[in-house]
Amino acid sequence: MKIIKIFKETISDGFGFRYSIYFSGCTHYCEGCHNHETWKGDIGRALDKEYMDEIVEEINSNYMLDGITLSGGDPFFNPEELLEFLKEIKVRTHKNIWSYTGYTFETLLEDPTMRECLDYIDVLVDGKFQKADYDPDLYFRGSSNQRIIDIKESLENDQIITLEF
Ligand code: SF4
Repeated sequence: MKIIKIFKETISDGFGFRYSIYFSGCTHYCEGCHNHETWKGDIGRALDKEYMDEIVEEINSNYMLDGITLSGGDPFFNPEELLEFLKEIKVRTHKNIWSYTGYTFETLLEDPTMRECLDYIDVLVDGKFQKADYDPDLYFRGSSNQRIIDIKESLENDQIITLEF
């Protein structure tokens, strides 16, 4: 699992002041993607124990942060490694977690590992970027087909509950 870049403080990738981690690798190949250099998953710094410790230290030492955002690429490119990452980052930081993905919420529910990842994510921005639905006025998403989903509420109520900004 490789990380391409980290924004230590951003207000663009979700609600509030966030620590954004961009993972390498994506198989969605959306037309109009601005991050196609990330697709193969072979660029970036490998997420080893030392790097994980650095990330946790940076997050826990910044009391301004409202949460963590996972982006890419697609964080779900390698679900097994994502799950291990999520378990550790949640336990060590207790932060609210947003994740972007090119998969739909419904697709993630069908895969046991991806489904388990959702237990550690608070908000999911789902779906491929669709050039025809691009709208620069949207908050936290590129195209109008993408949804900002409250995961906990959606799972508890067995229906998709979105957040509006
Ligand atoms: S999901 Fe994101 S990174 Fe992947 S191809 Fe689509 S826009 Fe690009």
